Amino acid sequence: MTNAAMKDKKRIVVKVGTSSLVHEETGLMDLDRLEKLVRVLTDLHNSGKEVILVSSGAIAVGVKRLGLKEKPKAKAGKQACAAVGQANLMMLYQKIFGEYGVTAAQILITKYTMIEDISRRNARATFAELLKMGVIPVVNENDTVSTDEIEFGDNDTLSAIVAALVGADLLILLSDIEGLYTDDPKKSSDARFIDVVEKIDDEILAMGKGAGSAVGTGGMCTKIEAARIATDSGADMIIAPATQMNVINRILAGEKVGTLFVAHKNENFHLIDYLSKSRKK
Ligand code: GLU
Repeated sequence: MTNAAMKDKKRIVVKVGTSSLVHEETGLMDLDRLEKLVRVLTDLHNSGKEVILVSSGAIAVGVKRLGLKEKPKAKAGKQACAAVGQANLMMLYQKIFGEYGVTAAQILITKYTMIEDISRRNARATFAELLKMGVIPVVNENDTVSTDEIEFGDNDTLSAIVAALVGADLLILLSDIEGLYTDDPKKSSDARFIDVVEKIDDEILAMGKGAGSAVGTGGMCTKIEAARIATDSGADMIIAPATQMNVINRILAGEKVGTLFVAHKNENFHLIDYLSKSRKK
């Protein structure tokens, strides 16, 4: 797989993290970025691609909406914030996608929905139906009812699970991190940028020990875990900076941006086995 083949991708999952959706200084929604994201995704959709958005931000948006100074420490407090924030976020997505003439749908998933055969099959069928109808599904964890998701869950892994579930051929993780470095570039001047990862070996895993951002949940560790799921399931995965939303167009045009993890479909990879193992952790 080369970057040049990106234009042939058909089913694309794009994940955007909380830190890419809110202003760093205030924690309030970055509407300019949100609008640009929606515009780029709509254009992708209009060009004939099937697009799924995995969006974080429910808790952060809820915190601000409720006028709280910071994210509550207690689980119920976070879940209440997510309940408020998710509705607010979807209202904005539906409004902006609607302005561009596209219908957005909300799909909320928990680990348990994915583990249970019936609900996982239902979820897969719903995704297929929505894509057939020309709708853009907007996915998040169902933070309001999930128990361990808020503590352990992250949307990097979730987006890879969604990519595997729907048989996507490309997963793009938009992040405030521009890609994978051999070391933390903030701490080490020797840190080298990696543009392609053919195989996720111990050396790559060791590079994933970087910290996450102030508002997001995932760090490089969860991104590498996501890459493992996505590439095993047969999808390429790219970590790219969310500073300019047209990075998505540049990726699809075959430009080398961010870090590409090359798909290597593993016939022994079964989503349900992966989920069952992660449940026992
Ligand atoms: N599901 C969480 C939210 O929407 C975010 C999880 C994450 O940051 O990865 O607030």
